[in-house]
Amino acid sequence: MILPGATIGILGGGQLGRMMAVAAAQLGYRTIGYAPAGHHVAADLCADFVEGEWDDAAAIAAFAARCDVVTWEFENVPLAAVGAVSACPLVPHPRALETAQDRLKEKRFIEQLGGRPAPYAAVGSADDLARAVEAIGTPGILKTAREGYDGKGQWRIGSAREAAALRFPGKPCVYEGLVDFEAEFSVILVRGADGEIGFWDSTENRHHDGMLESSVLPASPLIAQQLGEARQIARKAAEALDYVGVMTLEFFATRAKETGGAPVFNEMAPRVHNSGHWTIEAAATSQFENHIRAICGLPLGSTRTRFARVEMRNIVGPEALTARAVLGEDGEAHLHLYGKKEAREGRKMGHVTRVWDAPAAP
Ligand code: AMP
Repeated sequence: MILPGATIGILGGGQLGRMMAVAAAQLGYRTIGYAPAGHHVAADLCADFVEGEWDDAAAIAAFAARCDVVTWEFENVPLAAVGAVSACPLVPHPRALETAQDRLKEKRFIEQLGGRPAPYAAVGSADDLARAVEAIGTPGILKTAREGYDGKGQWRIGSAREAAALRFPGKPCVYEGLVDFEAEFSVILVRGADGEIGFWDSTENRHHDGMLESSVLPASPLIAQQLGEARQIARKAAEALDYVGVMTLEFFATRAKETGGAPVFNEMAPRVHNSGHWTIEAAATSQFENHIRAICGLPLGSTRTRFARVEMRNIVGPEALTARAVLGEDGEAHLHLYGKKEAREGRKMGHVTRVWDAPAAP
């Protein structure tokens, strides 16, 4: 067990690391962040922050030597970087990163566990893409196999002609059929060092241009119907990876005949997740606190939802300039601003969580 007072290292410096650092501080831990040079919003909340390259094994080893446990807040930390953490435990185990960093590996892994991704094909060239489009059909989406996020590195393809006109990105990709879904949801779980698993309620997630816009509880009845199966896949994934900490699986809830009305797996994040930010105010224990508890070997907190209705909405780009207006509402709007300097279009700047004791009027 890593006791309060110890130092937690966080690889990555974004808002997830910032909120993790807050949770760690509340439990009496110190945090040190590590990320390449730049403006890191986690740095304001960490006791110390080290700027170093991901390929600087000596710098990462020196960083780890100052920590009692190291975790990550960003799933594209290169495997070579995590390999340099040797002076203290790295939790979760990096095998989770290896699986989740590659969309193909991730889909195969979930299929092996009995889960069902959208129809997909590995695509390495324009010719492969033409074949994949013929086999899977249109509409579909071409995604880079690695390093895409928030809809970046994705191209929607409406026809074989559109596929032929696309300038193929010079990187390994996956072509997947567009899922005719009714709703999107995520399963967020925490697994403790002793294998205990807790699930938070699953929100209904709405996206805009591939980026999460809002997460709402309660989710639709269709999501409630498909949740059992989705949780089973998530549990199997966490157990197969012997995962310790918070992890997230995203799903499409479908009614389509070809999917048999089952949840379709979209992607997995081996970390706390944007669709779990509501847990800070509205769950008995937040995703950030339970991640810290899990990686330190402390008992997990309850994942119970404390309100009848919850909504988390992201603040994106220039919206941040007027976001403080929500503070004048009824006192149940909780504003989080991440301290990013430039409110660039499409950039996640913060979020607002609203809670209600009663369900929405019908
Ligand atoms: P991703 O980065 O893969 O999570 O994609 C971002 C968002 O794009 C998803 O949350 C969906 O709204 C949409 N999307 C991605 N893949 C598909 C798909 N195969 N079918 C339908 N919508 C998709």
